[in-house]
Amino acid sequence: MHNAHRNRWNWIALALFALAAHVAAVDRQDIRLPDIPRYQTLKCDFHMHTVFSDGQVWPTWRVEEAWRDGLDAIALTDHIEYQPKKEDVLPRLQRPFEIAQDLGSERGVIVIRGAEITKAVPPGHFNALFLADITPLATNNLAVQMEEARKQDAFVFWNHPGWRVKVNEAVILPLHSELAAQKLVQGTELFNGSDLYSNVWSWALQNKLTLLANSDTHTPLDPPLANHAKHRTLTLVFAKERTADGIKEALRAGRTALWAGDILVGPGELLAPLFAAAVQVAPPHHRTAKVALLKITNHSDVPFNLTRKGGPGPTKLELPAGKTVLLKLTLAAKQPLPTLDYTVDNLLTAPDTPLPVTLTLPGTTPGK
Ligand SMILES: [Zn+2]
Ligand SMILES: [Zn+2]
Repeated sequence: MHNAHRNRWNWIALALFALAAHVAAVDRQDIRLPDIPRYQTLKCDFHMHTVFSDGQVWPTWRVEEAWRDGLDAIALTDHIEYQPKKEDVLPRLQRPFEIAQDLGSERGVIVIRGAEITKAVPPGHFNALFLADITPLATNNLAVQMEEARKQDAFVFWNHPGWRVKVNEAVILPLHSELAAQKLVQGTELFNGSDLYSNVWSWALQNKLTLLANSDTHTPLDPPLANHAKHRTLTLVFAKERTADGIKEALRAGRTALWAGDILVGPGELLAPLFAAAVQVAPPHHRTAKVALLKITNHSDVPFNLTRKGGPGPTKLELPAGKTVLLKLTLAAKQPLPTLDYTVDNLLTAPDTPLPVTLTLPGTTPGK
């Protein structure tokens, strides 16, 4: 190629590079949590605020944070009845979503139109997601708001059930159970930020409510640490498709798990395949009559802390996030490799109920 041509190509390449460099302002750090059979594992935060109520950021910044933090979906849920900045920011309920949605589609982050129904405690606050129009909910009558949310086919959940009531404990009124029975409220936060409302857990399971965990952030969020060692509180949604409708269907069906700190909460039928998809046991690379050495890799960003239920294997088995550990099994005699029965202490299916798992070692027949 002639020099003149080469120069021209260099300039074109430079121009393209300059354009490409402006596509995304921040790098995304994907969350390593695998899909499970039949479902995609979507990382979602369904509760946050902007300057349109008592938050400190413009709506687009919530999308930028979600992109950066590796999320699939967010809901903007500004307060309907509480707008302390209304002298400076016009109290227009539709604007947070309208402002954020274009950047959402550019970043590939699903933005859900939500609002926080904000009543005194008790009964407290409720988020309505997938609203078509928030304006009809701008009333002080909770019953009217709930009916309107139903008319719009919204998904409604109880927020931070113990806030301003008792530390980490909720007061569950007959009204809450009534709202759940009528399916006007279909879910409840179990975690809000770092707060856990543990006494809501059993009540929610009995009332077949979907469990959620959200950041409820009002301030700008810090960027994630490497491998999300510290992360915002999230709801994992197991969806048939990565769309707003897919999320709604999964929320209605109760297919969620909650990730708060190092804890995952969810139904066993979701946590078990998630654990199985995240953890890989390699065939032994060293085997004598009495010893087998093998590698176990945790491909996820969640550390797993296991305790032996009985049978062979170490009493405690720690599988750090994103790492491979070496397991040494001492065997009584030359025998087929056993299966290892453990509980995962930080994966909970109900209060004080860790997930049981069986590690099948390659080369053994399951069930032996
Ligand atoms: Zn609230
Ligand atoms: Zn809130």
